[in-house]
Amino acid sequence: MSRQLVVFAALLAFPVLARPPRLTVFISVDAFGTDVLQKHRARLKGGLARLITEGAFVPAVRYEAAECVTASGHATLVTGANPWRHGATSNKVFNRATQKLEPIFADANHPVLDAPLGNDDVSPENLLAETLSDRLRASTWQRGKSIAISGKGRASVAMAGRLGEAFWFHETVGRFVTGTFYKKAAPAWVQAFNDKKTPDAFQTKSWDLLGPSKDYLGDDERPFEADVYGLTTVFPHPLSGGLPSPGPQSYSALASSPMMNDVLFDFAKAAIEGEQLGKDDVPDLLSISLSPFDRAYHLFGPSSWEVQDMVVRVDKSIGDFLSVLERNVGRGNVLVVLTADHGGAAIPEEWAALGLPGKRVPPGGLQASVNEALKAKTQVEKVIVAIEETDVYLDWKALSDKKVDLVSARRQVAELLRSNPDVAIAVSRDDLEGPDTQGLVRSLRVGFHPDRSGDVLMVLKPFRVLEAEPKGTSHGTPYSYDAEVPLMLWGKGVKAGLYPIAARAIDVAPTVAALLELGSPASCEGRPLSDVLALTK
Ligand SMILES: [Zn+2]
Repeated sequence: MSRQLVVFAALLAFPVLARPPRLTVFISVDAFGTDVLQKHRARLKGGLARLITEGAFVPAVRYEAAECVTASGHATLVTGANPWRHGATSNKVFNRATQKLEPIFADANHPVLDAPLGNDDVSPENLLAETLSDRLRASTWQRGKSIAISGKGRASVAMAGRLGEAFWFHETVGRFVTGTFYKKAAPAWVQAFNDKKTPDAFQTKSWDLLGPSKDYLGDDERPFEADVYGLTTVFPHPLSGGLPSPGPQSYSALASSPMMNDVLFDFAKAAIEGEQLGKDDVPDLLSISLSPFDRAYHLFGPSSWEVQDMVVRVDKSIGDFLSVLERNVGRGNVLVVLTADHGGAAIPEEWAALGLPGKRVPPGGLQASVNEALKAKTQVEKVIVAIEETDVYLDWKALSDKKVDLVSARRQVAELLRSNPDVAIAVSRDDLEGPDTQGLVRSLRVGFHPDRSGDVLMVLKPFRVLEAEPKGTSHGTPYSYDAEVPLMLWGKGVKAGLYPIAARAIDVAPTVAALLELGSPASCEGRPLSDVLALTK
C-alpha cells in the first residue's frame, strides 16, 4: 500500500476524532442556584456575562430527586441519571456496620494519597453509573484525557468517574491530593504546583470587597451569619485562620473565600500545561467544581455581601480563564459548560422577616421528639439513629433485640414525622409506591437506593431549612430554590440563544455527550437538549 493510502486509511479509521471540541471544560459552581444568578445578572461583566450573551443560556435546569446536595448533584450532572441509578443518594450514608454516617465516596481500600488517613471521599467505587469522563476515555481508547478538580473530594470523584483522574484541595495539608484509586504517586505537574505553596501565601492576606461598598445591597453585618475559621462576619475577612503560620484553619478560611476559586483555576491551568489538554484532535475533558461558592453560601446566606462578592469575583475569574482557553487552545476548539450541583435556601430567619414561612428546623429536635414518643411503646431508647437530609435511619439492631417489627416501626416513625407541622411528607421506604398526593413522593423515588437511603424518607415544607447549626443556611430539598440551577454552553457546536425550556439535570450529560459525539453514559435517563445544539453531519 502506498504511503498516501495508508494515511487515507488511517483517517477513515478515526473519522470522528477531529470533530468534537479538542477541550471541553465542565464548570460546576457549587450552590449557584438559578435564583442567585438571576438576582445578580445586571452586575455581571466578565466570564458569566460572556457565557450568557455569546453562548446558549438555559436559565433553569431542574433536579428531579429530592435531596439536592453536592455528591448527588455532581453525579447526576455527569451520568445523566438520577440517584436511584447512580447511587450517590446523599453526601453521607449511614453505615450499618460502624453505626455512623459516612461520606458516600469513602473507600477504605483506596485511601487518600499524600494526606493523613481520614474518612474522606476518595474513590468512585460507590458511584454505580458511567460518567461523561468514563465515556470519553473508553471511546478514545483512553487517548482523550479527563482531569477533575475541586475543593471537595466528592465533587472531583464524581466528575472524574472511574477512568478519569480526580484531584482536590485537602484542607488539612493545604495541598491538592488524589486517591490511591487513581494514582500511586502524584504526577510531576501536581507536585510542582504543590511545591509552590500557593495556598500558604494567602495566610497573611484578607478577603476584601472587589467593588465599592455602595455596589452591595443590604448590610454587611447581618444576624445569623456564621463566624468560623477566624473569618469574622464582616469585610475584610482575614484568611489567617487565627494562626501565626499556615495550617488547617487558614486553609479552611481560604477554602471559604473566592481567592480559592483562583487557586483552583491556577491548578486547572497547570493541568492544561502538565497534561497537554486540548493540544491534539482527541477530545479532552477538564472538570472544575468551584466549592468555595457553597462554603460562603452556607456561612453567610445567598443575600449576603459575601455571596454578592463571590458572584462578581467568580464572574471575573471565569472571564480570565476563558481568555486563557482562547489563548492556549483556541476559541474554535473549546466547549465550555457551566452549571451547578444544587441551589440553596436563604437564611430561614431572613425569609421569616420577609413574611415567608421561613424556619430553622434542627434534625436533632425531630429525632428526639419521635424517639421520645416511641420509647415506651418499643422499649428502644433511640428508634431513629440518624437523619441526613431526606434520609431517616432507624436502629435495626435495637428494634430486632426488642422484637419490634421493622416495617411497622418505619410506618410509625413516618406517621409521627407527618404529624410535625414543619414536615410536608414522610413515607416509609415500604410505601414509596403508594399515593403521591402532594407530588413529592416521585422526587423521593428517583432519589432512592435500597442499600443506601433511609428507612423513612422525609421532605420538610417549603422555606423550612433542616440545619443543625444555629447560624448560616443549607439546601437538600426538591423546592426550586434548591433544585433549579442555570446551564450555560459556549463554544464549538453550541447554538447561541436564550432557552427558557423545561430542562432537567439528567439532560446535561446527554447534551454534552452529543456535542462530544459520544453515546450517552450507560445509565443515562435524560435526553439531549437538541434546541441548543448547532451540529452538522
Ligand atoms: Zn452545600
